[in-house]
Amino acid sequence: MLKPARERSLARRHPWIFSGAIGAVRGSPGSGDTVEVRAASGGFLAWAAYSPSSQIRARVWSFEEAEYPAPDLFRRKIQAALALRRAAVPEEAGDAQRLIHAESDGLPGFVADRYADTLVVQIGSAGAERQREALIEILREHSGCTRVYERSDADGRELEGLAARSGPVSGPPLEGPVKVLEHGIQYEVDVAAGQKTGFYLDQRENRRLIGTLAQGREMLNCFCYTGGFTLSALAGGARSVLSIDSSRPALALARRNLAHNRLDAASATWQEADVFNALRRLRDESRRFDLIVLDPPRFASTAKDAARAARGYKDINLNAMKLLRPGGLLATFSCSGGVSPELFRKIVAGAAADAGVSLLLRERFSAAPDHPMLIEFPEGEYLKGMLLERR
Ligand code: SAH
Repeated sequence: MLKPARERSLARRHPWIFSGAIGAVRGSPGSGDTVEVRAASGGFLAWAAYSPSSQIRARVWSFEEAEYPAPDLFRRKIQAALALRRAAVPEEAGDAQRLIHAESDGLPGFVADRYADTLVVQIGSAGAERQREALIEILREHSGCTRVYERSDADGRELEGLAARSGPVSGPPLEGPVKVLEHGIQYEVDVAAGQKTGFYLDQRENRRLIGTLAQGREMLNCFCYTGGFTLSALAGGARSVLSIDSSRPALALARRNLAHNRLDAASATWQEADVFNALRRLRDESRRFDLIVLDPPRFASTAKDAARAARGYKDINLNAMKLLRPGGLLATFSCSGGVSPELFRKIVAGAAADAGVSLLLRERFSAAPDHPMLIEFPEGEYLKGMLLERR
C-alpha cells in the first residue's frame, strides 16, 4: 500500500516504486515475489516484483488487475517486443539487435540481445531473476536462437541484492567470438568477455550515418571499442582513421574486425590510450581532423553524479573542438542516464564557447529503434548525441 498521494507516478504508468512511497507492506514478501500495489485509498494500481534491499523497492509487471504476472503475460510481452523489431529494424541492418530492452518493453530488468544465432541475456532486477527460466525459455522459443548465454554481471545487480552470474545457459558451447553483420560490415562479438553483452548495438544507425559522411575525411574516433565507427567510416571512404581506446582486448578485436572486412589496413591507426590525455597530446602535436567521434562510456548513471559527468564531457568536447578543421564534423555522444539531452546540449555549447568555435547543429542522435523509448519512462532515453559542423 502506498502513502497518501504517492500514486501519481504509477498512475502515469512509470514502472518504479521507490521505498519512500510505500506506506505499508502486508506480509513479508521476499526478493522477486509478486506483490499487489494499492493506493492509500485502497484502489488497485499494479502488479509488481518486490525487491527488499533496493531503493527501487518494486518494479511493475502490469497495470491491469486481470494480468497477473505469469508465463502467459511474459509471452505476450515478448511477442510484442519481437513484432516491434520486425517492423522497425530493416533487414539490411544485419543480424545483431536488441530483442528486449527491459522496462521499455514492459519487462523490468530483462535485457536480451541477439547476435546471429546466439541470444545473450542480462538480468538486472529481483523480479526478472525470479522469472528467469520462464523469460529465457519463451524468448529462446520465439527468437529461434540456438544458443543462450548469460551476462548478468552489469553494475546494479548488487543494488538488487543479487550476485553476478555469467556463462552458458543452453545450446552448443561458444567457440570464441560470434560473427555478426551490421549494415554489410562484419564484426566479431565477444559475448563471454566483451563490454555490455559484447557490442554497442544502440549505436548501429549512428555508425551507419557516420559512414555516409566520411568520404575523403581524416577521422579521429575516440573510445573506439571494437572499431564500430572506424569501420563504417573506412567503408564510407574515409581517408584515414586514428582510433583510440583504453581497452587492449577491444583494440585487438578491432584489428581483427578490420581484417575481416578487407578494408585498407594502412588507413587505420590504433592507439591504446586514455582519451583525456590523448586529446591534449594531439593538440600539442598540432594534429587536425575533419571528422571526430566522441563516444565515451557512461559518466553518470543518476542525476546526482551529473556535475562530475558534466566536467568530463566538457573536457573532451572542448579539446576535440580544438582539433577540428573548419567544415569538420564532430559527432558527440552521452549515454549517461543522469545527463538529460538538454543538459548535454548546454555542456557542449559551453565547451564551444570556451573553445571559441561556432558550431552548426546538423543532426540529433538517439539509440537505434530496437532500443525503444516509452514516453512515461524517460530513464529509457539514455543515449543522445549531436552532429555538429564547425563553421
Ligand atoms: N563507439 C563504440 C562504443 C564505445 S564504448 C562502438 O561503436 O562500439 C566506450 C569505450 O570507451 C569502451 O571501449 C572503453 O574501453 C573505452 N574507455 C573508457 N574509458 C576510457 C578512457 N578514459 N580513455 C579511452 N577509452 C576509454
